[in-house]
Amino acid sequence: MNRFAARLVQENVVLRHGRPEILQVNVGKLCNLTCVHCHVNAGPKRKEIMTRETINRIIHWLARTDIPTVDLTGGAPEMIPDFRYFIEQVKALQSERHVIDRCNLTILRETGYQDLAEFLATNRVEIIASMPCYSAGNVNAQRGEGVFDGSIAALQLLNSLGYGIDPELPLHLVYNPVGAFLPPSQEELEVDYKRELKKHFGIVFNKLYALTNLPIGRFASYLRHNNKLDEYMELLISAFNPATIDGLMCRNTISVGWRGEVYDCDFNQQLGMQWSSDGESKPLFLWDIDPNLLEDREIMTGDHCFGCTAGAGSSCGGAISSLS
Ligand code: SF4
Ligand code: SF4
Repeated sequence: MNRFAARLVQENVVLRHGRPEILQVNVGKLCNLTCVHCHVNAGPKRKEIMTRETINRIIHWLARTDIPTVDLTGGAPEMIPDFRYFIEQVKALQSERHVIDRCNLTILRETGYQDLAEFLATNRVEIIASMPCYSAGNVNAQRGEGVFDGSIAALQLLNSLGYGIDPELPLHLVYNPVGAFLPPSQEELEVDYKRELKKHFGIVFNKLYALTNLPIGRFASYLRHNNKLDEYMELLISAFNPATIDGLMCRNTISVGWRGEVYDCDFNQQLGMQWSSDGESKPLFLWDIDPNLLEDREIMTGDHCFGCTAGAGSSCGGAISSLS
């Protein structure tokens, strides 16, 4: 039993899926950036991307469900050739679904993508954008030289299209620590972000999500390289907060990989913890799953899960509870 599972036993909790509300699809590892904290090990040379055939199978499955939200992530999800096709197919489904694009901002200004922001606005796609700090030094250190200026220009473009202003065009930013520490209070940080981005660049946005870096992928390599992996793990374990368990994203999310494989969350996906059929070792793909049998399925855990329950907790929608 891993340490997280043992802690749940101690807390008398069994972690199980509830009603699925979000289908999170990781369309691949291709990205224009190579951030230090990346848990996906994404980058410009990665070849793993979702094909149109897989998209069609996902859409077909989704049509049989009433899951209201499709959350597209990557890599830079916008870089797969069928990104727009995917969104158009979701929007063409009979019952209306909401689409989220997890965007690194800089992609919106790359050659070949300049009309993408307008496409997203036309299709009322919510944008959740990475912005690890409101100062250039921290952003460039984590994400690469020039990323801060590119992100600012992209945010200004999104504002000019109504993002962050029109209630139908939500624009949320994501903060994550630039190093081996937990995020500070999300509420306080949001106030700082709003003040600084407005004052210096005239930028507005809706909410700030403060996420904890999980010790997997490139961030785990970074910690290992700096001899900080054990220390960081201890920090996460010592900050375990049982009040975060009800709000863990794995409870209402199904995570799908670029080949259609199914996982409990994007982190388990990066660790290869694919669902398999009960009692067999047959790996499961989305189209193998009966949508009516998702609820109450047990969630696979590992030591990395302590990253979701540390302090105020961390999910795709930011902190789970307030820091006391
Ligand atoms: S963190 Fe996001 S933007 Fe950075 S390399 Fe990974 S997928 Fe790309
Ligand atoms: S990493 Fe977080 S979201 Fe994923 S299974 Fe563990 S607790 Fe749930």
